[in-house]
Amino acid sequence: MLNIILFGPPGAGKGTQAQKLAEKYKLMHISTGDILRKEIADKTELGLKVKSIMDRGELVSDHILIEILQSVIERNPGVNGFIFDGFPRTVPQADALSAMLKLKGTSIAAVISLTVDDEELIKRLLNRAAELGRSDDTEEVIRRRLAVYNAQTRPLLDYYNHLGLLKETHGIGLIEEIFGKLCRLMEGLSQD
Ligand code: ADP
Repeated sequence: MLNIILFGPPGAGKGTQAQKLAEKYKLMHISTGDILRKEIADKTELGLKVKSIMDRGELVSDHILIEILQSVIERNPGVNGFIFDGFPRTVPQADALSAMLKLKGTSIAAVISLTVDDEELIKRLLNRAAELGRSDDTEEVIRRRLAVYNAQTRPLLDYYNHLGLLKETHGIGLIEEIFGKLCRLMEGLSQD
C-alpha cells in the first residue's frame, strides 16, 4: 500500500491537493472534516454531538476520531492506499493510526506538510467563508482554529520528523504548481 498524510494548518490547501493526488495515484482520500460535516448535515447522533465543538473551532475528542478512522479503514480493504487529510491532529491520534496500519501490515510512507504563513491562512479562510458560508469560518473561530492547530497539531511535525517521514512543501502559489511539487515528492516514495 501507499499511505500518505497531507499535513498543514487550516486553510493550507490540504483538501484541494489531497483530492488531486487521490485521483492521480488511485488512492482513497479520507477527510475527517468532510466526514464530520456529513454527519452534521445528516443530523446523526454523532453529528449532533460534534457540531458545537466544531463551530467553536475546537477538536473533536480523540476516541471519536479514532473510531471513525477504524471504521473507514475496515470498510475499504482493497484500496491501494489512503491519503489522510485532517487526521491525525494529535499525538494520540498519530499513535492510533500507526497501530491501525500495522495491523494491516502497512505503514505511513510520508507526511507531506504544506507550509503557509498565518496572514495568508486567515485571508484564504475569510475568502472561503464569504464563498461557502461554513459555520466555522468566522474570523474569531478561524483564529481559534489556528491557535488549536499551533498548540495540539503542530507538535506532530516533530513527531514525524523524528520518524524520518516528514517532507515539507511551500503551499503558496498556483494550485497546479503546488500539485506538481507534491507529485515530484510522491514519485520518490515506495509502497509497502
Ligand atoms: P480545516 O479546514 O480547518 O483544516 P477540517 O475541515 O479538516 O478543518 O475540520 C474541521 C473541524 O472538524 C475541525 O476544526 C475539528 O473540529 C474537526 N476535526 C476534523 N478532523 C479532526 C481530528 N482529526 N481530530 C479532532 N477534530 C477534528
